[in-house]
Order: sequence, then structure tokens, then C-alpha cells
Amino acid sequence: MIRPCEASDLHAIYAIINDAAQAYKGVIPEDRWHDPYMSLEELEREIAQGVGFWGCEEGGELIGVIGLQHVQDVSLIRHAYVRTGRQRQGVSTRLLAHLRTLTAHPMLVGTWADAVWAIRFYQKHGFRLVCPEEKDRLLRKYWSIPERQVETSVVLADERWFGDEIVDTLVKRGEELLARPFETIQFTANAEADALLNDLDHYPHAYVIACLMDRQIKAERAWLIPYLIQERVGSFAFAVLRDLSLDRVHSLMREPEPLHWLLNAMAKTLFLAIQRIGDQYSGDASRIWRGTPSSATLVRRFLEFHGAGPKIATMAANILVRDFKIPVSDKYSIDISPDRHVRRVFVRLGLARKGASNEELTYVARELHPTYPGIFDLSLWEIGKSWCHSRSSECDQCYLQQYCPTAGTRTHGATGT
Ligand code: SF4
Repeated sequence: MIRPCEASDLHAIYAIINDAAQAYKGVIPEDRWHDPYMSLEELEREIAQGVGFWGCEEGGELIGVIGLQHVQDVSLIRHAYVRTGRQRQGVSTRLLAHLRTLTAHPMLVGTWADAVWAIRFYQKHGFRLVCPEEKDRLLRKYWSIPERQVETSVVLADERWFGDEIVDTLVKRGEELLARPFETIQFTANAEADALLNDLDHYPHAYVIACLMDRQIKAERAWLIPYLIQERVGSFAFAVLRDLSLDRVHSLMREPEPLHWLLNAMAKTLFLAIQRIGDQYSGDASRIWRGTPSSATLVRRFLEFHGAGPKIATMAANILVRDFKIPVSDKYSIDISPDRHVRRVFVRLGLARKGASNEELTYVARELHPTYPGIFDLSLWEIGKSWCHSRSSECDQCYLQQYCPTAGTRTHGATGT
């Protein structure tokens, strides 16, 4: 039976700690060994400072104890010991499993660097060693121990802690990338096409139409369509486009060669987009995003276009906010656009499961950073493009190496997982 310890258990706890701690004798640095390993006064002081003990009782006798201390935003595992003679019978495992149900906070445990059996135990239960610099920082932040003990200890953390660190780091990097000044966006490999798409002052409808064309073909091809239409018509001025009939739009998209394999559907989408911009926004598509709208308003306005589902609408809003730096009053509805890089890195970082649908990834991002879920796009895309390739990973270059659960553990397969 696992139960909370009471004041009357003090001497039993003291006895178990000092019995089990004999294992440290001759293993940990000599100057850190005391006999008894922990005095009664020290134990009482620890309890007074907030260490709560749970014990495993059998036959009316405590055979193992484990301490839990909540400090700031983490929970520390303190003083986990099992009587000699009752070890290797699963007592520690049961105590640890129970402790994990008692906190929603990330869990950290510190132990002697030389106590390899203890390190292995926690590793077996999903804890991972933090890097030496982080270990020093954590020991100084959450523990009150002498410097010499900091030097001779290690810290292991559970997946919640690593997950929190990953999310914080990604958000911070996303904010850095977001704060960069506007740079011409490379949508295609064609500089003239990109110039048209980047010219929101004169051709905001080109951007809207390109977003709407981005369906079931490669993005680079979809984003070329406004430029190719311009070549075929001789102009991309809105007044010129407004005069085109549906039949004319259809033939422009069809000849000399089709611009999209969904020819009928996309010709209709393009024609209706021009009509909507004319009717609803007086021919000026920049009115869709002008005036610092809320992110929900912005997404909803794109959703009102024929052929625009949530994926296109959120992508359109995301690029405007993230890359064009269009101001919005909030970013709650700016979701991620899970392309292959974003998906791959999300999964490898352990933030999403392999095979997760785009909707699931969207909700993962919302759960992790509700005020601006799309912030992950920037940092995940950068990692995916730079180091976390589908067939190989350059983990030693990646700034998340120390937190990533799959860093350097395998040669990533060609499946893009
Ligand atoms: S550490 Fe390696 S596996 Fe993890 S995200 Fe970075 S590159 Fe990918």
C-alpha cells in the first residue's frame, strides 16, 4: 500500500534513508559522505521546508519512501529510498508511479553523478539527463544545496519539463523571427511573379487570388497563376480583371496550357473572387486586412471567398501577419499551416504523434500557445529546412538538441516522420 507519511513515521523514514544510503559509501566523493548520511535534524528541516513523504507499507511496516517538494513551477523528487533487502522488488517503481499522479508540474530529480543505478532507474522511467550547464542552473534555482554538491550531482527531468522547454524555446525563436523587418517574400522561383505578389499596395488582389489557387497543386505553381494571368491578359489591374466574364477567365486559365488541373473549379473560384473583391471591398482587396482587424475577422473574411476552406483562410491570414507584418488586434485565430517541415519537426520533438492529421496538429499548436498558435510555423519551418531533414538530421547544429527526445537517437528514415 502506498500512503502519505505522517509525523509518527519520522523515525521509520530516517531509518530507511540511512539504511539505503549505505549504497553511496565509497561511491560518491568522500567529502560528501556522512555517517549517518542524513541526520534527524536535517530530515526534520527538509519536511519543514515542504518535502512531503509517501511510503510503501507492507505488513504494517514502511519498506520504502519517496519525497515530493513543489518549488516554483516544478515538482522535485526528493529522497527516494527502499530498505536493503526489499530492493529490486518494484517498490521504487510503485512509489514513483504514485508520485507522478500527484502533480501536473514538470518533475525534476537530482542525484549523485556517481549513483549510476539511480540514474538508470529514472532513465528507465522516461526521465532524461539535462545537459551540464542546465543542471547547474536548475540545481541553483530549485534546490538549496552546497556548491560542492552542485558540482558532483546530475539532474534528470521528465518529458513534461523537456516539452515545456521545447515550447518556450520555439516560441522565443518564433517571436525573434516575427520581429524581423519585412523582406520580400519568395513565393515562387520567378522574381516578377514574386514582385506582383509582394505588391500589396497596388495589387492586393494578386495575393488573395494566389492564396485561393493554392489547392491540390504545388504551392510554387499555384502562386505563379496571378502572374501568368497577367501575361495572358496584359495587365493585372483590378479594373481590367473586373471586366472579364467567367468564360473569358476560363479560357485564360485553359490556354495556351492549363494553369490548374482543377480547371473549371479554379476558373469559377477566380471569377467569383474578383466579383467579391469588387462588390464587398470596392475593388481594393487590402480592405480585407485594413484597420487592424481581429484575427478571427481576418480568417472569416478569407473563408467567405468561394473555394476557401480553413486551411487556405488561415494560411492567408498567417502570411499577412507573419511575413507582411499586417497588424491585427490579436493572434488567437492565426493557426499553424502544417507543411511537411512543420509536421516532421513537431513529431520529432515529441509534441505531436506520428500520423497526426492537420486538424490535430492545429489543435496541438492551439493547446501549446493559445494566444498565437501560428507562432510555431516560423521556428519549426526553420528547423525543418535547416537541420531536421526528412532523410537525415544535423542534430548537433540544432538549438533544440538538448531537449529533443529524438536527437541523435537514430538515422531518420525516408518517410518524413
Ligand atoms: S534535435 Fe535533431 S531530431 Fe530534434 S528537432 Fe533538432 S534536428 Fe530534428
